Amino acid sequence: MEIFQESTDIIERQKAPIQDHLKTEVPKAFADLERGVYAALETYSNVHRGSGHFSMVSTHLYEQSRDIVLEYLKMKKSQNTVIFSSSRCIGIIKAQLPKNSYQILSSSEFGLSLGICALAVSRKALSKIAPLHTGGGTARLIAKDWVVWSKSPDKFEAGTPAIINIIAFAKALRMIQSSGKDIFRNSDHEKLTVAEILYHDELEKFSGHELLEELRKTLIGRGIQVPTLQGSCPFINLDNSASTPTFTPVWNAFRETLRQSGQVKQEIIPEVKSICSEFLNAPQTEYEVIFTSNTTEATNLAAESYHREYSKETEPVVLNSLLEHSSNDLPWRMVPNASVIRLSVNHEGFLDLNEMETVLREYNLEEKSGKKRIRLVAVSGVSNVLGVCNNLEEISRIAHQYGAPLLVDAAQLVAHRQVDMEKCGIDFLAFSAHKVYAPYGCGVLVARKNLLHFSKEEHSLIRSSGEENAGGIAALGKALLLLQRIGWNAISEEERKLTKRALLGLATIPGLNVYGIKDPESPEFSSKIGVIPFALTKKMSTQTGKELALYGGIGVRTGCHCAHIIVKHILQVGPGLERFQRVIVTLFPKLSLPGVARISLGIENTEDEIYSFIRVLAKVAGQAQTSNDINSVTDATEKPKLKKAEVQRQMDDFVQAKAVQVYG
Ligand code: PLP
Repeated sequence: MEIFQESTDIIERQKAPIQDHLKTEVPKAFADLERGVYAALETYSNVHRGSGHFSMVSTHLYEQSRDIVLEYLKMKKSQNTVIFSSSRCIGIIKAQLPKNSYQILSSSEFGLSLGICALAVSRKALSKIAPLHTGGGTARLIAKDWVVWSKSPDKFEAGTPAIINIIAFAKALRMIQSSGKDIFRNSDHEKLTVAEILYHDELEKFSGHELLEELRKTLIGRGIQVPTLQGSCPFINLDNSASTPTFTPVWNAFRETLRQSGQVKQEIIPEVKSICSEFLNAPQTEYEVIFTSNTTEATNLAAESYHREYSKETEPVVLNSLLEHSSNDLPWRMVPNASVIRLSVNHEGFLDLNEMETVLREYNLEEKSGKKRIRLVAVSGVSNVLGVCNNLEEISRIAHQYGAPLLVDAAQLVAHRQVDMEKCGIDFLAFSAHKVYAPYGCGVLVARKNLLHFSKEEHSLIRSSGEENAGGIAALGKALLLLQRIGWNAISEEERKLTKRALLGLATIPGLNVYGIKDPESPEFSSKIGVIPFALTKKMSTQTGKELALYGGIGVRTGCHCAHIIVKHILQVGPGLERFQRVIVTLFPKLSLPGVARISLGIENTEDEIYSFIRVLAKVAGQAQTSNDINSVTDATEKPKLKKAEVQRQMDDFVQAKAVQVYG
């Protein structure tokens, strides 16, 4: 079962003569697979993290996919579990396991370019090994100098998994079980060119605001009805920072690519590299583009390389900040002999660049800290908690002045602001396609040439592992082209309008704190994207999230957002309370700790959705909405039509019905 397929093998296999019965079966199999995946996309959200119906469904489908793999391999659920990752990561984990303790399945072994590798492994064997990569999801609680790790399998799945591709893979396994291993082979029955897949679509006559309007109509999942206390209503996704839904042209690029010959898939990859490099102004003469499975894998790769770079005479230090997502913090902590220094931020989330300069000067020029030298500055382009954009040009200037290259965690940046790597002097940049309306398991590391320290063999393994996901790569290319066609003026105008509406609405709700930049008229507002953290003084954030879903079918995110340090900073959790939390989390892993709720807006959102959100939140806060700014004013005392228990039951039915629709 253990098969790692090089992409050239796929081309060879697809050249094999196609058997007659497969001529009809293959297209039918792809059509069935697409129906299931489309159903999953309709309720797509991040797993384990968000609140609301869509996150519940996606989490259920995702966890079910582990069971499907075990079922396929006839392994017992009680003794085994499944880890999904890229083939390179699985290869490294597997090397630490006893031979008879695991089996591996990969999507490429069935002719599917999904980039999925599943390691089905004995829980006992797994408990003895350490994760290769760290970051979002691998930890339950994080402080500046300690971590409480998650349990397996989460501990081994760093960052957002390739949820849709994994669901597609599990669905395909079910189909293979009943119809045979070849049903997705020789799939080039609908031949298209790279140009047709990436550059042409039904909306090609539109651009700017007009394209945005048309694109919104194609949002997969728009209008899906979910059960609430007032009866069914359309789901509202306000959790775009966790993961974005997708648009039909992007879905088409993904599904059409899966059906193409190996040759076309091979041609798509360099084309999308050049789309990325143009999108980020990272000329391919100076930068290389490496596909990964998410931002976290990209950052971990940079950390792996960093480890090899430094000289024996000095001790390496990474300079990041309190703002960082754990995917731009934990990987640096894992580098042997390295240490991390975190720059502080003011109450709006801005870094103190004078402090940055002082620290760099003291370490690198004045050598005040012995052998310690800052060898890298690694900061987020935009904070996923406060939504504040860092001044990358200035940060890069200071870092370079003291000989430190700059890595930007651009997970929250790329969908919202134009990035110019060359102008800003960014040396490394990492981002995820699932936050750019292409949730098909692709991430990107863009690195200045010659700054990555991997051997030829390692480099080729890293490259081929990421490039197994031709479908996800094509979808990313398509999404970036669409954003370019809409244009940055239209995108930021729209998002600013929505953010302003939301801030003004939130200001009308008594007993509610907004953290970070609050005033849309302030000069700082131009440095903020539509990420707004807030808390009700009388409710835990998890409860607020649950009630937003229950009362209004609204999905947000609550808790620490994989950025525990900044959340604790804004909530003023001191070291004593932090230590107490550590004990609590160890004893009662399911208990919720204080955090904040967050809405995060994207181009898919509309003003009406913001109005509904404010109206429902006012109700959750126990207040009648009084602002004239809000169209549909509802009395908070309005009686629910259904009982909570009935809605809970309907929610469970909703999840189960989706599972049947997806997996059959
Ligand atoms: N960095 C930031 C700022 C993020 O917001 C996230 C995800 O939320 C990540 C990194 C990790 O991204 P991924 O889970 O796609 O690896």
